Amino acid sequence: MADLWRLTISEASDLLHRREVSAVELTRAHLDRIEQVEGSVRAFVTVTEAEAMREAEQVDQLRSEGVELGPLAGIPIAIKDVISTKGVRTTCSSRILEHYTPPFDATVMRRLRESRAIMLGKTNMDEFAMGSSTENSAFFPTRNPWDLERVPGGSSGGSAASVAAGEAMAALGSDTGGSVRQPGALTNTVALKPTYGRVSRFGLVAFASSLDQIGPFTRSARDMALMLHAIAGYDPLDSTSINAPVPDYSAALTGDVKGLRIGVPSEYFVEGTEPGVRAAVEQAIETLKSLGAEIGECSLPHTRYGVAAYYIIAPAECSANLARYDGVKYGYSSKRVASNLIDYISETRAEGFGPEVKRRIMLGAYALSSGYYDAYYLKAEKVRTLIKRDFDAAFERFDALISPTSPSVAFKIGEKVADPYAMYLNDVFTIPANLAGICGLSIPGGFSDGLPVGVQLLGPSLGEPTLLRIADAFERATDFHQQLAPTPTAKKKGRAR
Ligand code: GLN
Repeated sequence: MADLWRLTISEASDLLHRREVSAVELTRAHLDRIEQVEGSVRAFVTVTEAEAMREAEQVDQLRSEGVELGPLAGIPIAIKDVISTKGVRTTCSSRILEHYTPPFDATVMRRLRESRAIMLGKTNMDEFAMGSSTENSAFFPTRNPWDLERVPGGSSGGSAASVAAGEAMAALGSDTGGSVRQPGALTNTVALKPTYGRVSRFGLVAFASSLDQIGPFTRSARDMALMLHAIAGYDPLDSTSINAPVPDYSAALTGDVKGLRIGVPSEYFVEGTEPGVRAAVEQAIETLKSLGAEIGECSLPHTRYGVAAYYIIAPAECSANLARYDGVKYGYSSKRVASNLIDYISETRAEGFGPEVKRRIMLGAYALSSGYYDAYYLKAEKVRTLIKRDFDAAFERFDALISPTSPSVAFKIGEKVADPYAMYLNDVFTIPANLAGICGLSIPGGFSDGLPVGVQLLGPSLGEPTLLRIADAFERATDFHQQLAPTPTAKKKGRAR
């Protein structure tokens, strides 16, 4: 069967179930696709071809024995290189973890393995998930399959690009301030930041623990429902895990949004957003209205303090979390001869961390230092409470909110690297959800000059079923999510030009 990589999970799952396609064929097709496009896209840090084929054979074997398997069995997926994978290198795209192989699986990995999904490999990212373009990877930048001169967004840019380019049917990323939703928007994929605590963080290398959440990328709302169902749920190994039953997310996809109240936050439609992005989002709002949703305006007045609060809280938590990389227990150790322990640790960190990670550690350590704690960290936490209250008030009137995911479409590689502030502003619309702990979904919402625009849906705590329902109804009325990026022409080494 031609072009198996074009299938969604739901389509492939039916074919696997009916034994019209085998897991080996499906996995092979994706490994071939990786071979075809990786030379230009570079979404992967590590491809685990042999393990993937072995796992696929096992799935086919089980099926031939008549074992009942779930919808993800035999589905090839990619994993952001910040999620611990037993026996497979987990680098966080950092020199300091370049040769680190975890002796255990993250809970999400354990769950995916139990679902018999097939891991194709580990994807590139901004170092330690700090960035919005994947240019902060210590190894190489990933390119946007829609335009190879542009970034795929970040920090989960490798995961987003792998799904957009047809290298994987779904991928996992992590979202601390927008790192799943923003690359989702820039690559025309469906991208979810679940409610804080919905998905276990055990085995996710920590960046900012009160904000981090693992979330999937897919090419449809239906596939997202399947992925979320597989990874969500209580985990005693994560003390922030929510102990609430996992609903059947697929059952939420009724196709009907009649009477659903969707709020349009006026602060998310301010200047600074590209006109093409704004036009697409306004069109999406019209589409939902025509489907019977009740649209109304609302206000989230503290939105404008979100980025400032985030860039105190996230670096503060990062400075504490990254203190563990001392060159002693694991990871990179400086080869220079140091005369004392402090020098040894300093050398290791100076050589092992990239510039953005160092900037965050310094900002965070400063904000937490005595004399500055109250002025910065404590104040930022108070702002966070105000932002949360804005959402609480909005969700008394609305079932969900709608906005652009990112103020711009994919920008050029190199365009914003010299200006950290411009890079940070990419996340104005995504950061508030992390600060408030609520859920957010980015869906393909149209195009601006041929580049994808993401529409963000925000929901209250555990409001994922409503967001998926809206996304699915929108997909039934549009075909944006079915548009695939053009196949890049591979630049292979040694190939005659
Ligand atoms: N771009 C934001 C940052 O650099 C968000 C990153 C993320 O969500 N991991 O911190």
